[in-house]
Amino acid sequence: MRQSHLFTKTQKEAPADEAAKNATLLIRAGYVHKEMAGVYQWLPLGLKVVEKIKQVVREEMNAIGAQEMIATNLQRKELWERTNRWSDDVVDCWFKSELKAGGEVGLAWSHEEPLADMMKNHITSYKDLPIFIYQFQNKLRNELRAKSGVMRGREFVMKDMYSFAQGEEDHTAFYEASKIAYMKVFERLGIGDDTFITFAAGGAFTEFSHEFQTICEAGEDITYISKDRKIAINEEVLNDDTLKELGVQKDDLEAVKTAEVGNIFNFGTQKGEEVGLFYKNEAGEDIPVWMGSYGIGVTRLVGVLVEKFADEKGIIWPETVAPYKVHLVGLNLDDKEIKDYAEGVYASLDNKGIPVLFDDRAEVRPGEKFAEADLMGMPYRVVVSKKTKEEGKFELTNRTTGETRLLSEEELYNHL
Ligand code: ATP
Ligand code: MG
Repeated sequence: MRQSHLFTKTQKEAPADEAAKNATLLIRAGYVHKEMAGVYQWLPLGLKVVEKIKQVVREEMNAIGAQEMIATNLQRKELWERTNRWSDDVVDCWFKSELKAGGEVGLAWSHEEPLADMMKNHITSYKDLPIFIYQFQNKLRNELRAKSGVMRGREFVMKDMYSFAQGEEDHTAFYEASKIAYMKVFERLGIGDDTFITFAAGGAFTEFSHEFQTICEAGEDITYISKDRKIAINEEVLNDDTLKELGVQKDDLEAVKTAEVGNIFNFGTQKGEEVGLFYKNEAGEDIPVWMGSYGIGVTRLVGVLVEKFADEKGIIWPETVAPYKVHLVGLNLDDKEIKDYAEGVYASLDNKGIPVLFDDRAEVRPGEKFAEADLMGMPYRVVVSKKTKEEGKFELTNRTTGETRLLSEEELYNHL
């Protein structure tokens, strides 16, 4: 990609109406546009990051047998009334609207009810189970406070997954597999060591649900963590019973600020009963389907990665999610010879399948180019200039360590 072709502009100054570091940097670097509080447009660079996170999640969910689909944003009021979740007193984040043709619809804040209802068309016998489905979708939530940038949106991308099983045993097998798959996702995103499977307030049948909490200063939660034992407990269930059950002492736990990047939840047969989702067992009896629900905050993760890895110069992307691996910065490009040379390097990197953003703008000063490259956060910066051409070397800088190496063309390609 040529930077001259990228329509997004970077900003030197922080936007006045943005308090969160993640959104400030994402706006300044041209990844998102703030439409209003808690509502962000994803621009080409930002979309690439979102898509890369989605792909990691997709691969891990597919690996445990889940199937991707996409549900609708408009939802039927009756479905949510049946489970007593239409009321604003019960669910505090509803956006609702009225149809011109008459009647009310809800805007999707979650999808348990519609998808459980849909499954009546696909589940009749025990032979149909288990089924695991997931989607990536924009969720709409009327959050009271939206001050954490993309980490708490009123419109945001979530991966939500639902499991439909015959009973507890089948359910638990998938629930446990999902924990491992979730941790694989967070490891691949570079936050595995800082992410804890956290005991939280219970599902419908179980004592606990599980949250995935990542240590993050900008997070809104406080989690009690034992790093050695990899045990974490949410404040809301931190009591004598829980401590006894998990075999930890309160003194062994450290209170840390965390961001909830995912959670998994056991509904037992409650939802199946409420919605009327039953299957016939071998004896021909009608049994309510056992359900679970599994979320990952895709766009919240973008914010968490920015918050955790950025430095005073700007964003630093882990390689797995960076929009481009290399930021190729061309200097002295008004010299035709250097320009042709830089174009050649760009073409070579491109031909080798290395994702590269080429700063091909002749009119921008070097200092500005470097500052912008630091702000945008690609993992590697490569400089081509009159000097590097004469020396036959390239300057390769690692964005994380700041370490610069002079490499020959061949060494450079090998390195990347
Ligand atoms: P929170 O406690 O942070 O409000 P939640 O308990 O409402 O989260 P879920 O409804 O289970 O979360 O949603 C699944 C995941 O979606 C969460 O773990 C989180 O990562 C993400 N998420 C939830 N609300 C938001 C939001 N407003 N903006 C961005 N991501 C969100
Ligand atoms: Mg919430």
